[in-house]
This record gives sequence, structure tokens and C-alpha cells, in this order.
Amino acid sequence: MSARVLIIGQGLAGTALAWRLWERGVPFVIVDRDEAVTCSKVAAGLITPITGMRLTVSWRYAIFYREALRFYRHCGRRLEQRFLFPRGYVRLLKNEKEIEKWEKRRCDPELQTFLHRRTPQLDADVIENPQNGFQQRHAAWLDTSAYLSASRHHFETLGAWLRADVRPEDVRDDPEGVDWKGQRFTHVIWAQGWSAENHPLLQWVPFQSALGTILSVVADLRGEKRILNRGCWLLPRADGTLRAGSTYEWTFDDPNMPSPEQVQSLEQTLRSLLKGPARITATQSAVRPIVKGRQALIGTHPAHPRVAFLNGLGSKGSLRAPWLARHLVEHLLDGAPLDPEFDLQDNRV
Ligand SMILES: Cc1cc2nc3c(=O)[nH]c(=O)nc-3n(C[C@H](O)[C@H](O)[C@H](O)COP(=O)(O)OP(=O)(O)OC[C@H]3O[C@@H](n4cnc5c(N)ncnc54)[C@H](O)[C@@H]3O)c2cc1C
Repeated sequence: MSARVLIIGQGLAGTALAWRLWERGVPFVIVDRDEAVTCSKVAAGLITPITGMRLTVSWRYAIFYREALRFYRHCGRRLEQRFLFPRGYVRLLKNEKEIEKWEKRRCDPELQTFLHRRTPQLDADVIENPQNGFQQRHAAWLDTSAYLSASRHHFETLGAWLRADVRPEDVRDDPEGVDWKGQRFTHVIWAQGWSAENHPLLQWVPFQSALGTILSVVADLRGEKRILNRGCWLLPRADGTLRAGSTYEWTFDDPNMPSPEQVQSLEQTLRSLLKGPARITATQSAVRPIVKGRQALIGTHPAHPRVAFLNGLGSKGSLRAPWLARHLVEHLLDGAPLDPEFDLQDNRV
């Protein structure tokens, strides 16, 4: 059977789209540049309910989380590998102001589902100032690089994965479909992360992408498995390695070159969290695709109904990609209405 849908980009967005089409038995081809460093490959894959300075529950968390759990477990079963790891998440409060805020927030009914009953006990020989924190439930981390590479292998064996840098001008659409390299598709879905800033059909979208940096760290946490956070987060991974992050840089010249001040400040915060020595073994940076004032963007282009997009996952790609990909696929295949919160056509500036 010939391919029906062309997906461009195999990050968290494109991969979830490919699986959603696969689940429905719809043929597809997914094309990726195969870059060594991308946002999805660098990401820590954290999925966290209570976030930010305001200590609120992340928008529509319960809905996205339920779907993400099911989705990654299903992919894992299909590929006989585990990608998603539920973990306790301990947020330590930074200062008096945060403690005061938490005292006001802690009884909020919307938080209760996500709060562990007991105050977290941390090893005072490992963690500096381990008091004044709370532990979150229904948090997890996704091993993004394992998930992306196993998915790629699966799509390759289906003959549905190609390496290419697709130029927008080579993808021609008409009211009935799309042509690329002499092949015909019903739709093209661009899932190309922050590179979409240069897509000629998206020049009206207010992208405000941010460079982020993550550190790989060697430190002895004495068996601590929970994700820890005070000013920065620290993720103990299943293979014994640690990752710490992350920074946000809104202006940058080189997407792989973080500012030394940002990296230094992250290192300092990490060292103020840990009591023992920590050795930084690697620094990785990539750009998060963010659309100003929006949680994400999906839908078709207003003037090109066969050209669709999934973008703007920001710092929540692991959590939201499975739900957004299903929603977009149902829209394209079944004509299901798009949630206006994400509809590309409702977001014209
Ligand atoms: C430092 C850092 C930490 C992060 N931590 C987390 C976290 O803890 N939890 C979380 O959920 N998210 C995290 N994120 C955010 C997460 O990485 C993003 O939400 C997600 O990766 C975006 O996925 P994407 O598929 O839209 O984009 P990308 O990952 O950028 O994927 C786009 C893909 O398209 C390809 N591509 C682009 N243009 C073309 C073209 N013309 N032809 C062919 N291929 C093309 C690219 O090569 C790439 O493979 C983090 C990001 C960073 C930078």
C-alpha cells in the first residue's frame, strides 16, 4: 500500500504522530535530518505535576498524564523495552518566600491528588539543607533517547523512515493532496521543532523559542532514586547516571552554544543542592520550540488544508505529545473538531 501521510521531523512530536498513525493502520513515511543533537534527544523527559514559582498544577495535567502513561507503556510493550519511569519528585523550597507561598498553597484542593502524604526524608549527608520540601506523586521521566531510537528502528523495519533534510519548496500541495519526491500523500505534517521558525508558511506564528542546557553529572547519591529540585532539578537515571538542568536563554546566536554565565549559574545551583562532590562530565544544549502565549499549536494551514503542523511543545513535549498527536490525527482522518486552545487557525496574528 502506498504511504498516505508524510511526517517531517522525528522528535517527540513526529514520533508520537507516527505511532498514532501506526495504531490506526494508516501508512506513513517519517523523514528526519538525523542530527546528533536535537531538542528531543537532549531533553531530560521529566513529567511533573506541580511546577514553577507559583507552585500550581501544570495545565490539564491529569488528562495529558493519563494519556502519556498509556501511550509510552503501549510503545514499550510493542518494542519490548521500557521508556517511562514513574518517580517521586521532591521539591525543596528555596527561601522564606517560597516556604510562605507553600504554606498558603498546600491545602489547595487541586494539589491534593499530586501530593505525597509524608514529608520527604532525604539523606542530610547527601543533600544540603534537606528540610522544607514536599514530594509529588504522578511524576515520571521518559528516556527520550531510548524511545526515539527504538521507535526509529521500528519505523525503519516498516520501511517508513527516511533520512533527508526536506525543503519546504519541494513539498507541493494542492486541494487533493501533497507531492514530495514524486510520491503522493494525503497530508504532510510538519513536526520540525524550532526549525519551523524558518518555514515560509509559518511566518505569522509568534515563535519565542528558548535555548536550554543540561549537565551530565557524576555524584554519589547513595541510592536516592527520586527526582530532586531546588533551583534546578537533578534526575538519577536507571543506568546510574545523573542529569541536572536546565537553563532558559531567550536570545542566542548559536543554538549549540550556551552562554558561559548560564552554565556557571546552573553548576552553582547544582552544587548548592548537593553536599558531596559533583563532577560535570558533559554539557548539552538545544532549542525548545515555544509559541508565545500558547501551550502548543496543531492543525492545518489556513490556506493549505493538506499542510498540517504539530509544534510549540515548549518544555512539556514528553507529557503532551501523545495527546496532541492523537488529537491532530483524529482531526485529519475523521474530521474531529480541533480544541480551539491549540488550533493553528485560531492563532493567527
Ligand atoms: C535542555 C532541555 C531540557 C528539556 N527538558 C525537558 C523535560 O524534562 N521534559 C520535557 O517534556 N521536555 C523537555 N524539554 C523540551 C522537549 O525537548 C521539547 O518539548 C520537545 O523535544 C520538542 O519536540 P519536537 O519534536 O517538537 O522538536 P525537536 O526535538 O526539535 O524535533 C524536530 C525534528 O525535526 C527534524 N527536522 C527539522 N526540520 C527538518 C527538515 N526540514 N527536514 C527533516 N527533518 C527536520 C530535526 O532534525 C528534529 O529531529 C527540554 C528541552 C531542552 C532543550
